[in-house]
Amino acid sequence: MDLRIAQVDVIPIRAPRKEAVRSGLNQGDPVSASEFGVVRIQTRSGLEGLGEISITFPRIGHTLCHAARRLMAPALAGEDALARPQLLARIDYLLGGELSAPYLRAAFEMALLDLAGKRYSAPVYELLGGRMRERVPLAWGIYQKSPEEMAADARAALQSGYHAIKLKVGRRLEDDCAAVRAVAAAAPGVPLRLDANAAYPSVAEAAAAIRAFADLAPIAWIEQPLPRHDLAGLRLLRQRTGVPVMADESCQSLRDAIDLAAAQAADVFNVYVVEAGGLEAAAAIFAFARAAGIACILGSQAEMGVGTAACAHLGVAVPSLPHACETFGPLRYCRDIVARPVPIAGGFLQPPEGPGLGVTLDEEAVQEMKA
Ligand SMILES: [Mg+2]
Repeated sequence: MDLRIAQVDVIPIRAPRKEAVRSGLNQGDPVSASEFGVVRIQTRSGLEGLGEISITFPRIGHTLCHAARRLMAPALAGEDALARPQLLARIDYLLGGELSAPYLRAAFEMALLDLAGKRYSAPVYELLGGRMRERVPLAWGIYQKSPEEMAADARAALQSGYHAIKLKVGRRLEDDCAAVRAVAAAAPGVPLRLDANAAYPSVAEAAAAIRAFADLAPIAWIEQPLPRHDLAGLRLLRQRTGVPVMADESCQSLRDAIDLAAAQAADVFNVYVVEAGGLEAAAAIFAFARAAGIACILGSQAEMGVGTAACAHLGVAVPSLPHACETFGPLRYCRDIVARPVPIAGGFLQPPEGPGLGVTLDEEAVQEMKA
């Protein structure tokens, strides 16, 4: 079997969302469609690997597609598709540590793992060390809207079997409090995950908001209350409020995770396949965090079917997964790019059956959403 890379296609996608994203990151500027990309690597023998470029903020997915086409595609042509470490090292070199590099690297790593899995007739989770659990428990995420709408979403999510509820905060305090109160009433006894997306400018303002929320509802954790680099502030908040802090924007790479642990800045990490630079890089963060006594969940950029399949394979393979994950991206879209939907049901995500990632493209959907 000739596994030299014959062709690399990068297809920019514009995927309409069922509901616009409203969060602490984009007040007044809702995101109604994801500008993502699909990476398809084909070998001379016709084996194919799929990856996904998924980045919601900032909206540079199509710029990344352009970079992938110009830089990566020519560099990979003719190379052995199974030589993943060398190919990824080459990609790292080409991207030169650029901030959005991990999103591109992840798309290519995903595609190469998919290819390797198909070559060895094994699902990707087997390449990651094997299956630890059958499925990944999910939490549902609620964007900023009216308290009544948010409460209705929470009720529906719990009825559908979701294991936890996360809501986006970071608006005016009275709006957030009304939302927290309404959701807490709709989900009695369920500790709420509150995600501020770095909206609070200072420790004092964040602490005041957290105390107000904690008076209204049981709080599982406050996610990213402060700007990305304010690790000292995150530590102070943990000490002053006693409410657990989750790092999201602050925790993208393994290096970030090490810095957070050293600064004692977080109780939980929100780890993303696409932000870490791929499944193996995300697995390294899980391994480090476990050694440091910090729990992780798998988070998401609302990846579509290819990216979410990757999350599912990692989610069933990591040794420890104490909390529900947020990798239900396909449910955010009017239409997915994969032919068979990634199994999400009853509050669980499962890896699709079959070798590699277990997904194939819905060519017609891809054509429809091609940007
Ligand atoms: Mg977040």
